[in-house]
Amino acid sequence: MSIYKNDALQYVKGIGPKRAAALREIGIGSIPKLLYYLPRDYLDRSRITKIKDLSKLVEAGNEVTVIGTVFRQLVKRTRRGKQMFYLTLKDETGYLTCIFFAGVQWYQDAFEAGEVLAVSSVPELDKLNRPQFIHPEFDRLKAKDEEDETDWNSLLHTGAIIPKYRSSEELRQVGLDNRGFRRIIRNAIRDNLASVVEHQPREILDRRSLMDIRSTLKQIHFPKSYDERDAALQRLKFDELFFFQLLMAYRRRELKGELKGISFNVKSTLARTLLSSLPFELTNAQTRVIREITDDMQQSTPMNRLLQGDVGSGKTIVALFAMLVAVNNGFQCALMAPTEILAEQHFFTLKEFLGKLPVNIRLLVGGQKKKLREDILEDIRRGSAQIVIGTHALIQEHVDFANLGFIVVDEQHRFGVAQRALLRQKGKENPDVLVMTATPIPRTLSLTLYGDLDVSVIDELPKGRKLVKTAVRTEKEKAKVFHFVQEEVKRGRQAYIVYPLIEESEKVDLKAAMAEFKKLSDNDFSEFRLGLMHGRLAPEEKDTLMHRFKSGEIQILVTTTVIEVGIDIPNASIMIVENAERFGLSQLHQLRGRVGRGAEQSYCILLTDDLAEKRTLQLATNRADAIKQNSDIKKRLQTMVQTNDGFKIAEVDLELRGPGDFFGTRQSGLPAFQVADIVHDTEILLDARQEAFDLVKQDPQLRLPQHEQIRKQFELVYKDLLAYVRIG
Ligand code: ADP
Ligand code: MG
Repeated sequence: MSIYKNDALQYVKGIGPKRAAALREIGIGSIPKLLYYLPRDYLDRSRITKIKDLSKLVEAGNEVTVIGTVFRQLVKRTRRGKQMFYLTLKDETGYLTCIFFAGVQWYQDAFEAGEVLAVSSVPELDKLNRPQFIHPEFDRLKAKDEEDETDWNSLLHTGAIIPKYRSSEELRQVGLDNRGFRRIIRNAIRDNLASVVEHQPREILDRRSLMDIRSTLKQIHFPKSYDERDAALQRLKFDELFFFQLLMAYRRRELKGELKGISFNVKSTLARTLLSSLPFELTNAQTRVIREITDDMQQSTPMNRLLQGDVGSGKTIVALFAMLVAVNNGFQCALMAPTEILAEQHFFTLKEFLGKLPVNIRLLVGGQKKKLREDILEDIRRGSAQIVIGTHALIQEHVDFANLGFIVVDEQHRFGVAQRALLRQKGKENPDVLVMTATPIPRTLSLTLYGDLDVSVIDELPKGRKLVKTAVRTEKEKAKVFHFVQEEVKRGRQAYIVYPLIEESEKVDLKAAMAEFKKLSDNDFSEFRLGLMHGRLAPEEKDTLMHRFKSGEIQILVTTTVIEVGIDIPNASIMIVENAERFGLSQLHQLRGRVGRGAEQSYCILLTDDLAEKRTLQLATNRADAIKQNSDIKKRLQTMVQTNDGFKIAEVDLELRGPGDFFGTRQSGLPAFQVADIVHDTEILLDARQEAFDLVKQDPQLRLPQHEQIRKQFELVYKDLLAYVRIG
């Protein structure tokens, strides 16, 4: 069911059955797919250097590219018996030796005398002060007696921009290295581009000044100039974001327009009683957000709203208010939290807020005693559990709600889109969904991640909060830092001391935290009451510990990052983070968010190992990576000291880590974009979103003739995902 005629790969000159099979393996099963196999990079002409000029460039330490002919190859043995492969290239100005010490077997047979290569590396000098390349990246430009082929070598010299393609061992075996790809793609463009059909309507192309699709494909592979390449890239980014936003537009239409939801009566005595019993007044932002939510709840379509608010902005009370409205209407509510500790904390805070209000609230987490668990499940089934707080345990199969009407998902970025959907399916009618996040998300990202949600923002902290003072200290200064902690704790404050616990080495780290705990209890803090919190504790143990900390019985809580999100203990005013260099920015911000919740001045001290920098550099096999890592660490710590603003922090974090890592692409349901960069392509994203949403409004069935190709392309791009939405 393809939109292209004769789009089988075999129609491309240079592709036989073997290559076709190898391509199919990597998901290229048709000519259009091949045309969309984009270069990963281009040979950078500005970096092409003559061999005679290399020596001068050693000092600068930048990567450069040399084009040369294979002149000599030999394998030498070092004194210790290790094999090294020496490859000498020549150009019209001199000779360059490239040394390979890994994979010698392979390199030995890799090159042919007379073949033309482009090799890229940072130049170094050998003992005789001659330039050399160590393990350069190489690209074959021309085989020895290649006939009837584009002479990329001379083309490059005349200014052509040459694409490089991602390859693999399997592909190379059938000749599909850079050069092989260049050939077949060039052939496909020459012979098959004419059958590519423009899918964007003329108006959109004009309105957004976009290049047509045929020129785009041609220019992205073999650009006339970098400007042309950029224009092509712009078009491809637009398409990518456009189809993704189209998907969002349909999801949203489905959630809003088509489905019938619960129309709540928002006059709730429970909710009103709650407000009048609070020890504080809501901030303006909280009031506004409550109005946005209750407006949605009244509608007959289901609510899907994202509630964003920095740590400590008071999201919990907003969620409770909304849940009480639902309870007053006779519905059950579920609140899903990412960790047991957080679920438990929510359970107890909500209970406290509820006071004497007649609401039955239950907690469902893993690891509860069988009898208790059965009892809770029964309560949920019968409908007598009105608010159910829990972890992932809530979305398990045997959890059966009598009449789930309202769902809150806390710290949404910890959950995937699929989990949201699973919980929603627990409702007999379509429940309203409120997702909350304390990770402030830059606008581009929220439109990508939550493009199908409405957004409410609490952009104001409760009055009287003092900014947390943040400082970076080294291990050497630890004694001073601990002295400071002692003083503060004597004055009645409480402190967290956090140790990193990273999954891969969880056991080792846990041991370290335990050992450290013992040391602290025996030495620096022997006169204080300490507790040790970590993820391996049973739910009841965590629970008891948190209560003892909350009540002040424990003065210093030594802990792993299990306390990272959500924990709310206003009297705790000191946060010490050990090995702060091992934490990500948003994690540090979350940790800092545990203090500064009460009236007292709070402090966050980030301890780093002096040696950390040296050690990373030593361990690094790749120096450039290590240098980047170290500068990232500095940037993270600096950012923490400079600002308390969660949005700024998120932006820096996103900048440093890239969107994939920021949320963990897989679990967040963030699509892996090929060309679009959702941090920087804000403008294209907004354009694409506008066009996509307008399109769905104007022609929901995509029936108009000028939209036929969009529909086809959409189906092609999102074949797998379209199962979840209906067009029209
Ligand atoms: P978060 O948005 O991080 O989940 P919480 O809901 O845990 O924040 O609220 C942080 C703290 O602020 C809690 O102790 C809560 O009771 C308190 N709080 C919430 N709203 C207000 C307010 N309007 N004025 C004063 N304190 C508030
Ligand atoms: Mg919270």
